[in-house]
Amino acid sequence: MKCLICRADTMVNDRSTYFAQLPNCYVIIENVPCRKCTQCGEVVYAASVMEKIDILLNKVQQIASKILIMDFDKAA
Ligand SMILES: [Zn+2]
Repeated sequence: MKCLICRADTMVNDRSTYFAQLPNCYVIIENVPCRKCTQCGEVVYAASVMEKIDILLNKVQQIASKILIMDFDKAA
């Protein structure tokens, strides 16, 4: 597999930290399996990994919206 950015044949299996900004929150997912270019650092996720991230983000959005619905004066 060649790197899409620098076109070097230096993609290796690695782990990466995925960061996403959602309307209501930020999400950080650590230790996501990926292919990383040792030359330029470009990270590529497999389609199956992206699917799992999507599912995680949907779950997190539901949790976050629940938290945000809480009224401080009533909840505290
Ligand atoms: Zn590269």
